[in-house]
Amino acid sequence: MQINKLYTKIGTETAFDILAKAEKLKSQGKDVINLGIGQPDFSSPVHVVEAAIKALKDGHHGYTPANGILELREAVAKNIYNFRSVNVNPDNILIMPGAKPIMYFAIIIFGEPGFEIMYPNPGFPIYESAINLTGAKPVPIELKEDNSFSFKAESVLEKITAKTRLIILNSPANPTGGITNANELDILVKGLEKFPNVTILSDEIYSRIIYDDIQFNSLLKYEQLRDRLIILDGWSKTYAMTGWRLGWSLWPKKLIEIATRLAINTYSCVNAPTQFAGIAALNGPQDNFDFMLNEFNKRRNVIHEQLNSINNFSCIKPKGAFYAFANIKKTGLTSNQVQDLILNEANVATVAGTSFGELGEGFIRFSYAASLDNINKAMERISTIFN
Ligand code: PMP
Repeated sequence: MQINKLYTKIGTETAFDILAKAEKLKSQGKDVINLGIGQPDFSSPVHVVEAAIKALKDGHHGYTPANGILELREAVAKNIYNFRSVNVNPDNILIMPGAKPIMYFAIIIFGEPGFEIMYPNPGFPIYESAINLTGAKPVPIELKEDNSFSFKAESVLEKITAKTRLIILNSPANPTGGITNANELDILVKGLEKFPNVTILSDEIYSRIIYDDIQFNSLLKYEQLRDRLIILDGWSKTYAMTGWRLGWSLWPKKLIEIATRLAINTYSCVNAPTQFAGIAALNGPQDNFDFMLNEFNKRRNVIHEQLNSINNFSCIKPKGAFYAFANIKKTGLTSNQVQDLILNEANVATVAGTSFGELGEGFIRFSYAASLDNINKAMERISTIFN
């Protein structure tokens, strides 16, 4: 059997491997606390579930338009206006089965051997994996702890070459909880004027999960970028809907047709009842979200304080998402060693920083999408290993 050699380079999202390991330990009777997985531990809002059931009962069993039903795309456009203060055309919106395929589509549209795609490192692991799949060269945008895991626009601009086709940005960020500094975005966008052929993919999946009244800065606010900007967002995090598989993307006019054709070539459309659930989530009451954000904030404060009290651990305070990225360099162990030690001896699942790129060495990602009780228990168990 001969397969395309590019596919031998396919990476993965280690969080799913850790989930499997944690489940195995649980099945052996171990009391495992999962701080590895990046999904809200809340239920999807009841009115959202009911909207999907109603859609099925009302007979929405068939294909929908490939780009998503109009009412849903209109609800997304309204939501974009409410949270990003920009009017967009629903025809530029593509509804997708989760947000992940959005990055995949954007990367395969631009990636091919001989060209370069820039991506955050440490960052969501699928960016680098998908870039490798296309044969394009992945060029890391270094996110450093001493810069609060934001980037320096100058260092991004310096790395752009004639071969650069796409730059991927993510704020608030997985795995660091960092938020890109507004000033750096201004400098970056100004600098990009010199590179009109470079497209930007802005992964804004955590756009609503921001603390301390920090203003969310969508790249959409830069009018001069709009004809070469792809926005990725969705329902998974904001509405605790990871398992429904529902995401939305906004594409420039030049790309929406190709992206929609890719949808037709792969999955045809997102399942109909889920799309109705998506409308209910956007247009219905938002109290579930408000409650969830408040809970995440309490947990953030606790985990931040407790991580800093563990011997040889330190952690800057995350500003968004639901991850704390703790520095474990002083333990003298690698990220993988610490991840395995914590899993095997404390029965706490976490994710090694290197799962997010080689620049994540020396860090461990803790998801605080877990109850306060579990966070406290996990921190206590970990500190007994290291203190
Ligand atoms: N982007 C980032 C940065 C993420 O962390 C995730 C999910 N962990 C996604 C995209 C994908 O979201 P979805 O589950 O909707 O595919």
